Amino acid sequence: MAKKDYYELLGVNKNASKEEIKQAYKKLAKKYHPDLNKSDPNASEKFKEINEAASVLGDDNKKAQYDQFGTAEPGFEGMSGFDAGDMNGFSSYDFDDIFDTFFGGRRSGSRRRAHQRGADLQYGLELSLEEAAFGADKTISIPRHETCDKCHGSGAKSGSDVKTCDTCQGTGMYRRTQRTPFGIFQTSSTCNKCHGVGKVITSFCEKCDGSGRIRKVRELKVTIPKGVDNGTRLRIEDEGEAGEKGAAHGDLYLLIKVKEHKIFTREDDNIFVEIPISFTQACLGDEVEVPTLRGTVEMKIPSGTQTNTLFRIKGKGIPSLRGFGSGDEFVKVIIQTPNRVSKRQKELLEEFEQLNEEKPLKNFFEKLKGVFE
Ligand SMILES: [Zn+2]
Ligand SMILES: [Zn+2]
Repeated sequence: MAKKDYYELLGVNKNASKEEIKQAYKKLAKKYHPDLNKSDPNASEKFKEINEAASVLGDDNKKAQYDQFGTAEPGFEGMSGFDAGDMNGFSSYDFDDIFDTFFGGRRSGSRRRAHQRGADLQYGLELSLEEAAFGADKTISIPRHETCDKCHGSGAKSGSDVKTCDTCQGTGMYRRTQRTPFGIFQTSSTCNKCHGVGKVITSFCEKCDGSGRIRKVRELKVTIPKGVDNGTRLRIEDEGEAGEKGAAHGDLYLLIKVKEHKIFTREDDNIFVEIPISFTQACLGDEVEVPTLRGTVEMKIPSGTQTNTLFRIKGKGIPSLRGFGSGDEFVKVIIQTPNRVSKRQKELLEEFEQLNEEKPLKNFFEKLKGVFE
């Protein structure tokens, strides 16, 4: 087919909307339709051209192909049987019906409908922080539709109970011929006996009543990778609902929820923990045991540590879901003041205070001097 500029033919620009294209076509179709232009021998040819342009630009797939490659071949399925020169009988016609053939109001072409793929399923899976961090093997129970094992999804009692649909001869399409002033149009729609499948079942499988699927609770072993977090969605291919009549399964999505931990909180791949230390440990310095997700580690508290100081232990956080490296652990030390002290401790502290040159509150007021005056 010669290369034509369909946009030019319809007098629209390349960014025109479907509605604009439709309106432009409608106008031109009325202007050039051969019945109204009997004296103009070119009208019929022109009319053919604009119909061809509309059949391409009105169809999303063909339009995309045309925009990309400058041709819509192989195509024009929707045009089959169309002949503007054939003007036999045009008692009644419906413009919109014909436009719909081009503009997607009706399915054109002869593609048979495939059986529908099974639906995706989502399963909420609760994990401990440790399981989320290091991965886990879990067994879950999911209620879902599975392919019927008796008929293997066909829905028929036996193989000979599946017959070619006699209404559409197995094409899945029902063709209708329409006479219009433009010629004879053939429109095709989905066969309503077989719903586009092309086959009908004469005797149904007793186990699934012809649906090809049965409902079952399925035990499934799943392996959770390390590093997952709240809201992580893991896709497990083909473990969703069974498809119609043996079509592909949907997928199963695991939506991860991580339970709150007694002592650790998490932020991305880092974890946080608070530990209490005594004021003498803070003052004199010490080595303390700190819990991590991988057991306890020794951590050095330097002398003169203030309360709420955050220490970082590298690499003791959550392993990265991407597969390399780990986050860090942050340890916040909280200094605890003794609730009770013995007589001897009191004496020592009083002596300590006499020698203590740091007077925090006095320094504080010194700093405020001039602020309130
Ligand atoms: Zn069955
Ligand atoms: Zn049929």
